[in-house]
Amino acid sequence: MKGVDILAIGAHPDDVELGCAGSLSLSISQGKSVGIIDLTQGELGTRGTVESRKEEALSAAAILGVDQRINMEFRDGFFKNDETHQLALITKIRSFRPQLILCNAKHDRHIDHGRANKLVNDACFLSGLEKINTKDSSGKSQKPWRPKLVLEYIQWVDIEPHIVVDISSHLESKLNAVKAYTSQFFDPESKEAETPISSKNFIESVSYRAKNFGRLIGTEAGEGFTSKSLLSTSNLFDLVR
Ligand SMILES: [Zn+2]
Repeated sequence: MKGVDILAIGAHPDDVELGCAGSLSLSISQGKSVGIIDLTQGELGTRGTVESRKEEALSAAAILGVDQRINMEFRDGFFKNDETHQLALITKIRSFRPQLILCNAKHDRHIDHGRANKLVNDACFLSGLEKINTKDSSGKSQKPWRPKLVLEYIQWVDIEPHIVVDISSHLESKLNAVKAYTSQFFDPESKEAETPISSKNFIESVSYRAKNFGRLIGTEAGEGFTSKSLLSTSNLFDLVR
């Protein structure tokens, strides 16, 4: 496992694409390295299988240019924010050593999303405590590591963002990565049961939300994020567009 600048974490394969794929694609184009962790295999999803969702997740990562994507295989719907799950995640955070973590929204329609948000935030804090001992996959003791910033992406519920990232030139890449999940999203040929995210309306809403955030910041497309810590800058002109 190589270190990365940005680690994007989602409760289910496809959360990262829906919430922040444009920002990942943008950051990669700016020379940053990105890893993705899916907490569960999405095995409770109405459509698709663990195998098909795994293939879709790898295709989406390839579209974005992300070469490291791992799955924690936590229990879909039932994983807990407890010591076992926190330690498992801390081990990965200490291996990837990201400056920035992107994670699920603080609350959302799917109950796993808010729980994943709390689990990730707690694991990021605990990961910085040196008396919590963890070992990497080769049995070597790990050094503490606390990411400098956790940003929470927006997925189903409309949440007022604290910051919007201009993804105008990366909207197409985001939508292509989302569409890699052929089992989950709108497919007129599919014989599987309909779900809240399999409608034509839903896939259009992903594009619409990005364009609406873009409208609000005076560009073509954007992705919004919230943060539990205060956002700051040392250059006022980073804020001037
Ligand atoms: Zn999800």
